[in-house]
Amino acid sequence: MMYDSILETLNRYGARLVAVSKNNPPARIQEVYQRGQRIFGENRVQELLEKQSALPADIEWHLIGHLQTNKVKYIAPFVSMIHSIDSWSLLEEVNKQAVKNDRIQDVLLQFHVAQEESKFGLKIEDAVQILENPLISDLKNVRICGIMGMATFSDDMALVRSEFRQLRQIFERLKTQYFTDQTHFREISMGMSGDWRIALEEGSTMVRIGSLIFPPA
Ligand SMILES: *Cc1c(COP(=O)(O)O)cnc(C)c1O
Repeated sequence: MMYDSILETLNRYGARLVAVSKNNPPARIQEVYQRGQRIFGENRVQELLEKQSALPADIEWHLIGHLQTNKVKYIAPFVSMIHSIDSWSLLEEVNKQAVKNDRIQDVLLQFHVAQEESKFGLKIEDAVQILENPLISDLKNVRICGIMGMATFSDDMALVRSEFRQLRQIFERLKTQYFTDQTHFREISMGMSGDWRIALEEGSTMVRIGSLIFPPA
């Protein structure tokens, strides 16, 4: 089965799988859960809430899609990782809701490296501005664990590879400048169904795979 062969490859690289379950009903998610999968990713808050209440409590839910500030409060009680931090105000709100829930919230900074205009994400200058904000040391309930990004949706694998390489370089730069000695800053969330092998070769620690695991009916 596809799931097992993906896992085997990921294990060789020491990378983890976020099974992207968006658009799939709880019954199908349950099948993958039965095989041992515990990390699932959703890109919409409403859908995440519905599935979280219908499925086992030991699932680690990751929010991988764009997050509006006014929706953080709904997922703050339980979400394991937010991959899509793309502004200072969102980071502040995530911290505020984490305080209310007495949790430390793991997050990733989302970067834009793809050619499509529509994709969300920071540029390196934006990230520097966030990380050098003097108020960041007050955000004690968020833990920045790394970065996330998407490559251009393209058959041009040289382009895709160069974008993953760019993400890796961004990670290394931030690690050196802002997170030396912080062992939790270690995740590079990149790679989807069409490009996950290239992402692994370029240093991904976490791939987000949907349609390969949940083939469209
Ligand atoms: C849908 C989605 C994925 C998974 O895409 P597939 O091509 O189905 O593997 C990964 N990341 C994000 C942010 C997504 O929205």
